[in-house]
Amino acid sequence: MAKMVITCALTGAETTKAQCPALPVTPEELAAAAEDCCKAGAAIVHLHARGGDGGPTADVKVFKKAIELIRKRTDVVVEITTGGAVGMTPEERIAPVALEPDMASLDCGTVNFGNDYIVNTLPIMRQFASEMNKHKVHPTLECFDVSHVQSSHILIKEGLIKPPYHYGFVMQVPAALSLTPKTLGYMMDQLPEGSHFTVMGIGRAHIPGICLAIAAGGYIRVGFEDNIYYAKGRLARSNAEFVERAARMSKEAQLEIATPGDVRKLFGLRGA
Ligand code: ZN
Repeated sequence: MAKMVITCALTGAETTKAQCPALPVTPEELAAAAEDCCKAGAAIVHLHARGGDGGPTADVKVFKKAIELIRKRTDVVVEITTGGAVGMTPEERIAPVALEPDMASLDCGTVNFGNDYIVNTLPIMRQFASEMNKHKVHPTLECFDVSHVQSSHILIKEGLIKPPYHYGFVMQVPAALSLTPKTLGYMMDQLPEGSHFTVMGIGRAHIPGICLAIAAGGYIRVGFEDNIYYAKGRLARSNAEFVERAARMSKEAQLEIATPGDVRKLFGLRGA
């Protein structure tokens, strides 16, 4: 039976408590959410850190506390962001990789982010990939565009990214690539042989993203980073509520839900 890997992006950099009262913000809240999501079927949690004001922070101490608390409560695979937030320097974004989380996101190109943008030049990508290799952190190659998948081929050729490749297709970010069966298909066509991929449907692309991932043999990402509405006009009560639905839909499609142990084996992570 094929297995579905579910990632939950607990918080992100943009969502606020005012928009979404159930948003986990402190390390304690992140750890509790990670445990609930793991019980609901998530094998991976994707982590951003927030400062005292609730806004995004690159403070390594906050990441450290959150990772420690998560590891005390659950064996879920921990993936940290290196996308950070709009306005952070590359040095700030890559610093938490030294904490040796299991995985980290690696943005594969520059992208519009609504009215803002996030810069990822090839030299930045090389620096991030090298740092991840040094700390034995497995990258999720985040692609916001078809050209980002193609850029990843350059790093693969240079030996900076090694298999098994795991891609994250971030789709329907405002002013970036939308999610349709055709755009997803074209992203998939550019993948190196044997790649794994997770579909991250932002906002209203949330449920289409789940359905397309199931149909196309991909994996699912849900969570407050990507979407806050469970249904039209109804906020999700928790990240776990999203995970529960994704797990239910996958099981109906005759997929087994991957455990954190399955993902450690799949990607050759520490402790596999
Ligand atoms: Zn993120």
